[in-house]
Amino acid sequence: MDQLDDLSSLHLETLALRTGQLRTDEGAHGEPIFTTSSYVFKSAEQAAARFSGQEPGNIYSRFTNPTVRAFEQRLAAMEGAERCVATSSGMAAILATAMALLQSGDEVICSRSVFGTTNVLFEKYLKKFGVKTTFVSLTDITQWQAAITTNTRMFFLETPSNPLCEVADIAKMAELAHKHDALLVVDNCFCTPALQRPLEMGADIALHSATKFLDGQGRCIGGAVCGRSELMEEVFGFLRSAGPTMSPFNAWVFLKGLETLSLRMQAHSASALRLADWLEQQPAVEKVFYTGLPTHPQHLLARAQQSAFGGVLSFRVKGGRKEAWSVIDATRFLSITGNLGDAKSTITHPATTTHGRLSDEAKAEAGITENLIRVAVGLEHIDDIKADLNRGLTKLS
Ligand SMILES: *Cc1c(COP(=O)(O)O)cnc(C)c1O
Repeated sequence: MDQLDDLSSLHLETLALRTGQLRTDEGAHGEPIFTTSSYVFKSAEQAAARFSGQEPGNIYSRFTNPTVRAFEQRLAAMEGAERCVATSSGMAAILATAMALLQSGDEVICSRSVFGTTNVLFEKYLKKFGVKTTFVSLTDITQWQAAITTNTRMFFLETPSNPLCEVADIAKMAELAHKHDALLVVDNCFCTPALQRPLEMGADIALHSATKFLDGQGRCIGGAVCGRSELMEEVFGFLRSAGPTMSPFNAWVFLKGLETLSLRMQAHSASALRLADWLEQQPAVEKVFYTGLPTHPQHLLARAQQSAFGGVLSFRVKGGRKEAWSVIDATRFLSITGNLGDAKSTITHPATTTHGRLSDEAKAEAGITENLIRVAVGLEHIDDIKADLNRGLTKLS
């Protein structure tokens, strides 16, 4: 099992192909999938040494599996992290981080614009265990400052946000969190390390729903937590005891996904930018939300901390729910689904799907209006994507 010793000189595209490599005595070029729940030991003495932690090595696939480890090593290298811990889903990555690093009485400050289920996890479930979460605006750092108490232990955010593409200044957020002995956790799902590396900007943890762009073809559910060793040891400890483990098959799919991640993210970003430009010129469109547009209020910040603008955009059509739904229903091949990060373009109406559980007041505050449509731009030809959207848009104007 070869490992490259010095990764510091290698670029992300090379790391994506050449780290976490697993080569057995069979000499297979592709990484093998180790579908085993347990491992055998040469002797009782070795078994004892493995279980006590004296000897490193595989014990049981709830917490040690070579295929999963290969994925972890590869993603850690790409995020510039000392270590990565893979999990069964993106939500499990967030839960494992919270359970490992927080305790009853601690407080979290969280961006209001996070994935809907993240909101539920903090507000409903972690609250039951005495962890209080305050939700604030992603872009207004003074709200974060004002929400800090002596019990604040964690800042949690996603940037750019879903679906309105708001951007937080990661370095400034890290500085504020650290000044108050809190950790900054960034859900890096939308950009992936191919476009944004939060740890380099001062974040303590970058975590993922691998289900999205890391897979890239909508096949598997998985997640990952990346950061420095001492924090990851805690996350790993929780995973080992609680068991939201990534399966070896899923790890293998994600390993393959990472190999093409950079190329795909560039292609998603290039098409999304062209689509955003085009949508801005359509008479039936009221407003387009995409960090790549110079009209976006945080365009320069996005430019500084991301190497491209990502594959997700949203726009408001003139009218309300009826008009938005008519544009969605007029498409011929865009997939009507809440998922994103797939090679296939997806289209969704946030107000009645991904953000449907929010109260009307919370929706209004988050800008999730009835005329808003989100598109996660896939890898189909951009002219075909435009034509598919144009079918409904031309009927509105
Ligand atoms: C999908 C998603 C999650 C949750 O990931 P699962 O793999 O579905 O559990 C978390 N954060 C963001 C930003 C997401 O898009």
